[in-house]
Amino acid sequence: MSCFVTHLESAIDGTRLPHDRIQTVHEGRPLWVRYDLEAVGRAVDPETIAGREPTLWRYRELLPLPDGAEAVTLGEGMTPLLCAPRLGAALGLDDLRIKDESQLPTGSFKSRGLSMAVTMARHFGTKRLAIPTAGNAGGAMSAYAARAGMEAYVFMPQDTPVINQLECVLAGAKTFLVNGLITDCGAIVRDGKDRMGWFDCSTLKEPYRIEGKKTMGLELAEQLGWTLPDVIVYPTGGGTGLIGMWKAFAELRQLGWLKSDRMPRMVAVQSDGCAPIPRAFDAGERFASPWENATTCASGLRVPAAVGDFMILDAVRESGGWAVAVEESRIADAMRRAIASEGIALCPESAACVLGIEKLVARGCISRNDRVVLFNTGAANKYIEIIPLKLPTIENARDVDYNIFDL
Ligand SMILES: *Cc1c(COP(=O)(O)O)cnc(C)c1O
Repeated sequence: MSCFVTHLESAIDGTRLPHDRIQTVHEGRPLWVRYDLEAVGRAVDPETIAGREPTLWRYRELLPLPDGAEAVTLGEGMTPLLCAPRLGAALGLDDLRIKDESQLPTGSFKSRGLSMAVTMARHFGTKRLAIPTAGNAGGAMSAYAARAGMEAYVFMPQDTPVINQLECVLAGAKTFLVNGLITDCGAIVRDGKDRMGWFDCSTLKEPYRIEGKKTMGLELAEQLGWTLPDVIVYPTGGGTGLIGMWKAFAELRQLGWLKSDRMPRMVAVQSDGCAPIPRAFDAGERFASPWENATTCASGLRVPAAVGDFMILDAVRESGGWAVAVEESRIADAMRRAIASEGIALCPESAACVLGIEKLVARGCISRNDRVVLFNTGAANKYIEIIPLKLPTIENARDVDYNIFDL
């Protein structure tokens, strides 16, 4: 036996639900996947895991893959944890590392969650997937649907980065632009899913994407020799990444695999163009009210209302962390500076995190000797709209005036 799932559990009221059939939400709120962790601990240990293939499936005892089911995979997982000394110094930190998720299939960490969700959808016999997306989730779902030979329907706001539109189309997904926000796209999937026979892959509307995202936390712990950093800074949209990592750390602690019980402070970063989570955090509220007129170039952060809002806020507060909003107008410039300082292709969402660190260092929340990990959730080159290019052109390569280079 290799599947250790015992049941699903409502995050809002703890109701137990069986895991042997398709489940979506309970009382409109997300579900946790629960495991028999004692049995997991008897079945596997960190040494065994260390010898396995470098993909997220190395943690299979902590994943929902049913016995006999085959994973839908593109080799996702085990992204590098890179030291960022120059960017760290600029921010006043001695130990800044970047977990570079831009190197994953389809160029974002969304592949972790969608690999898992599509695997489970196929296991349950679904043939048709649908997703509302701010961009990268749609691209990832389309790729995994193609990999699994399933049909994909993608709904995205009209102004979604063109690369995201392209990757869905190239993977054969039925792709639609919607005059509205991701919440409007979500309504299309919710209202049409019975009629269309869609498996709803929306963020947190099925229990398995979190389990895929959780592997970011498992990898981080393994890469740090089963210890955790002092601070984790994460760009937050729907929240699966942050929620998933916090769940991973709780499971690892219960398994007794961590060398210290000290948990990292979790930092949720949003843009001040769409900051429902920082606003609720500052107001001391457990649920976030929807953000009006959400605008940000960091498209993954453009989530005006998240069904898992309380899960994000609970995790941030339990960890002793913070939710911060950064200036939208500074994101593009921060992105350029960060990439130029380390060569790591930071997406605008993670550039917002650079500004978040700057803010928390200035406030004295993060100190110089804290070990800080920033997640680069996506690849910079997916955002061709973000910085208008105006490059000098050399008209005649045979007759160059070299004085122009002394700028
Ligand atoms: C989706 C996305 C986010 C937000 O992730 P959540 O886990 O849904 O909060 C951040 N960055 C990028 C690049 C994304 O695609």
